[in-house]
Amino acid sequence: MSQILRINMNDRSHRWEKLPPELETFAGRAFTSNVVADEVEPTCDPLREYNKLVISPGLLSATGAPSSSRLSVGGKSPLTGGIKEANAGGLTATKLARIGVRGIIIEGKPPTGASTWYSVVVRKGKCEIIKNNDYAGIGTYDLISKISKDYPTKPGIIGCGIAGQRLGKGAGLFGNSIENTDPGRFAGRGGLGAVLGSKRIVAIISDDAGGSTPEPKDRTKFEAGRKKLVDALMKHPITGRLKDDKGKPFGALKNYGTNVLTNILSEAGGYPTRAFREGRFEGAAKISGEAVHELVDKTREKFGDKTEGKYGHPCQPGCIIACSNAVPYEDTGKAHVSPLEYESVWALGGNLGIDVLQDVAELNRLCNDLGLDTIETGNTLGMLMEGGMVKFGDGKGATNALKQAYDEKSILGRLVASGAKIMGETLGVTRIPVAKGQSLPAYDPRPIRGIGVTYATSNMGGDHTSGYTIAAEILGMKGKVTDPRSLEKSELSRAFQSTTAYIDSSGYCLFIAFCILDDDNGFAGMKETVDGFLDKDIDVTSYGLEILKKERDFNRRAGFTPIDDRLPEFFRKEPLPPHNVTFDVSDAELDKVYAPYWHAAV
Ligand code: SF4
Repeated sequence: MSQILRINMNDRSHRWEKLPPELETFAGRAFTSNVVADEVEPTCDPLREYNKLVISPGLLSATGAPSSSRLSVGGKSPLTGGIKEANAGGLTATKLARIGVRGIIIEGKPPTGASTWYSVVVRKGKCEIIKNNDYAGIGTYDLISKISKDYPTKPGIIGCGIAGQRLGKGAGLFGNSIENTDPGRFAGRGGLGAVLGSKRIVAIISDDAGGSTPEPKDRTKFEAGRKKLVDALMKHPITGRLKDDKGKPFGALKNYGTNVLTNILSEAGGYPTRAFREGRFEGAAKISGEAVHELVDKTREKFGDKTEGKYGHPCQPGCIIACSNAVPYEDTGKAHVSPLEYESVWALGGNLGIDVLQDVAELNRLCNDLGLDTIETGNTLGMLMEGGMVKFGDGKGATNALKQAYDEKSILGRLVASGAKIMGETLGVTRIPVAKGQSLPAYDPRPIRGIGVTYATSNMGGDHTSGYTIAAEILGMKGKVTDPRSLEKSELSRAFQSTTAYIDSSGYCLFIAFCILDDDNGFAGMKETVDGFLDKDIDVTSYGLEILKKERDFNRRAGFTPIDDRLPEFFRKEPLPPHNVTFDVSDAELDKVYAPYWHAAV
């Protein structure tokens, strides 16, 4: 029996609520977006008491379906001013699902000027809100280690770092790894770490003692779907097993992680280099997934089992794709950072003209320790370089600037934690790569128009994960690449946005999409597990579209209009080498993404 835990930080009270029937099929993003849209005043200040932070494990979390224990976090974003959902792996979704928690809704905030910090401990049918100033003001690596000592049962942990505690708009929510050794699992985007900080909560700790595996309503259908999906995932060259029958590397994600994309995007001329000035990076190979793979193998040869470097690592219990990694120091084999993902490598690497892998790993480690989103922070540092304060390619300069964020009194440090828009505007930069205030990720929209349409129109602001057309435009589905330069991408983007909303609610990791869009059996497996769990026939597209509509309506009530569905001017005016193209998609085509549904209401 699922329940909702509602926490009121005005008076630090809580209550357990029965899951209402209308939310029965909603979990993950469907849950967070519905609660935010129904309960949060769209025009409220996101960092004051009327915003809510909503947390929900995906529908299939802890069920044994493969790669299905993602955690969604939602609220009104301080970065975009619109609705936000961000999701991550880690342990928390599994723990909450096992103790029957469908969602946690955190509302209110202690009085302004209050000096006390809190942690929240969730157990089966119980919740404690504990005054705890020891957890505040320290790096997240130290924080995880302190919490692990205080709670030795390996609980799920999510929280905000120093950046979120100081209400920096670039702050994400960190989560612990499955080994409970580091804070590298981030629901990074949209500044939701600052929303948690505004509630004066540093950490939410969830323990599943007395919990159990959630039971599908139609076990036979669920099992049949699970087997189909496992089979399809393992056979697929992107999501598949580590080695083929001849012992050669097979699954791209298991071997090279998402960072396998660095060389591919750079070759394609769609890798935004030096703050979106060029589309190809001459140093791509040095920071690529292949380079990380080689480094891990090197430290394995040198240190044997003692190396902490790895690839093919699962970020959550039950993930069989296992795209995560740990980058080791070459001279000791100790872990430097985990994971190092494609978007982070891009944001802190090629985007800044940095091609030294250890510099990129160090910048990522610092972001994790401060509780900052790597994509937002990489773009923020990009604005510092674009504004002439640090040279492109200067890894040490970027590191020194980022370290300023530890210092509460440093204005530069505060700016580094505030996101690209604020940094760019402060420095008089007129090429600020944001959509709805949130900075763009690792795919330039000029040569790859579909992802540009997603960036412009997504309810979430600049966000590749909300409609990852790269799967069709660069990687090709069913062996067929959709021309990335075609200007008619509204339908493609809408289809990706709606399927993604469904996947983000199911608990599945978005990376199953590489396989299920390619393999009908995999798609059927995904759907049967969800249908079997609920004992209902859920239509993937209409379920996703309903979520998008709800989110769109929130943004409309917050004051967004179709004009907000545009990219910054420089994408239309500055051709991107080497293909020398601009983002030429018409406004009418952008408006078509949502026009059939609700532009009329605007
Ligand atoms: S595929 Fe990668 S990101 Fe997704 S759940 Fe597995 S390890 Fe995590």
